Amino acid sequence: MGRPLIQTIISRLRGLLGSSQQNTPVTADAIDFGKRLIPETEHRIPRRLLDDNALKVAYRLQDSGFEGYLVGGCIRDLLLNKSPKDFDVATDAHPEQAAELFRRSRLIGRRFKLVHVRFGRDLIEVATFRTSHDNLSEEENQDAKQCDSGMILRDNVYGTMEDDALRRDFTVNALYYCPKDHCVYDFANGYQDLQQKRLRIIGNPDARYREDPVRMLRAARFAGKLGFTIEPASEKPIFELGHLLGKIAPARLFDETLKLFQSGHAVESYQELRRLQLFEYLFPQLEQLLKQNDPNLPVDTLVLNALSNTDRRLAQNKSVTPAFLFAALLWYPTQLRMEKLIREQNMPQLPALHEAANQVLSAQVRSTAIPRRFSTPLREIWELQLRLSRQSEKAAARTFEHPRFRAAYDLLLLRENSGEPLNGLSQWWTDYQTANPEQRHSMSQEPEKATRPKRRRRRRPSNSPAND
Ligand code: ATP
Ligand code: MG
Repeated sequence: MGRPLIQTIISRLRGLLGSSQQNTPVTADAIDFGKRLIPETEHRIPRRLLDDNALKVAYRLQDSGFEGYLVGGCIRDLLLNKSPKDFDVATDAHPEQAAELFRRSRLIGRRFKLVHVRFGRDLIEVATFRTSHDNLSEEENQDAKQCDSGMILRDNVYGTMEDDALRRDFTVNALYYCPKDHCVYDFANGYQDLQQKRLRIIGNPDARYREDPVRMLRAARFAGKLGFTIEPASEKPIFELGHLLGKIAPARLFDETLKLFQSGHAVESYQELRRLQLFEYLFPQLEQLLKQNDPNLPVDTLVLNALSNTDRRLAQNKSVTPAFLFAALLWYPTQLRMEKLIREQNMPQLPALHEAANQVLSAQVRSTAIPRRFSTPLREIWELQLRLSRQSEKAAARTFEHPRFRAAYDLLLLRENSGEPLNGLSQWWTDYQTANPEQRHSMSQEPEKATRPKRRRRRRPSNSPAND
């Protein structure tokens, strides 16, 4: 065996075991250097299920003298008879070279340079083979950047296909499909793991989670979505490293939250997140309430019902919005704060809600961002929770006309169905929607007139600030 080959093997071994001193054991079969080709007769991915545009991209790359493979989640999902969310292509062409081959392409990303090739509304992501961060030359180190905790800040060092396979997150995500020979290329034992429904991180688990803590959330998501078991050595460090998610940009955690809860497997993903003690890094205020386990507040039931509603809507091809998801998940933290402000500071209900909403949302955006296009309707959904309890004819008619009525009514239903004692209010609104004007008139209640003495309304000065 020549010296360079021995050095390559030693360097690869170091990469797989992680460069830092770790005491987490790596199971022996996690290390696999062999390349395995799985023929079409064995993997049986039907050619008609391969995305035409992804194939066009791979063929164009191959015809131009580069390599081009379909890779990642799409191959994993096809092998599991699921329909892939998107198709990704991997190549040895550098991003600039790949971009030149396609008229409708765009170079994107700084941390991780990629090429997007557009086909109408369809988008194919083309990524250049990358290598792991261990044992890089000084020049290469400028294109790779890691901070003290081991987190990768920039990842633009290119390598071979095998290098690329080993820098991916889970073995089942490191499978490549070659459109020329129709084989699946496996460098990390992913094919076997997939058949055994096992999620295994490639290399040293501790080091790989430190490099990118979001991989822990991805572990929860794939375990939930695919119904896989996380292999013990891949699971163990998660309980100690969850706090590293605090270093991830809230905007990225918002995107990951949507992938977790708006991809059709929200309930399973939530259960995995809680089991792995990761939920608290996405929704700390909600986790605190869940831990308190107040028998008078159906927090866990409301979360589970909200998530299973989302899954059901997606299964029926109905739309879902992050505004509703966040409104439902953060309702009880907000309601409790509002009640505290009313009790302790004697605040009227509406200003107390506004103040509680401000406090809860400004604490939440330290974990996950909430873009304004979602936080504005979210606040309206909350405000309508108060207005829905006013059942006079005029107030009900105004509430019913509000553009956010439907979402607010859905949240009210969720609350009452989860066990919050609302005295049949959601049924009242269900009936209201199909009632004719006469019926609405007789349904309406005028509790304010009957029970409260008339008060003079205080007029708001014309220059008072708006709600938000
Ligand atoms: P899905 O698209 O169904 O959510 P996916 O596995 O395709 O799942 P993507 O986020 O589309 O996930 O990423 C495509 C591929 O890129 C993955 O399959 C994996 O090989 C690799 N990858 C993505 N994120 C990471 C990461 N944080 N660390 C290492 N590899 C990653
Ligand atoms: Mg994908």
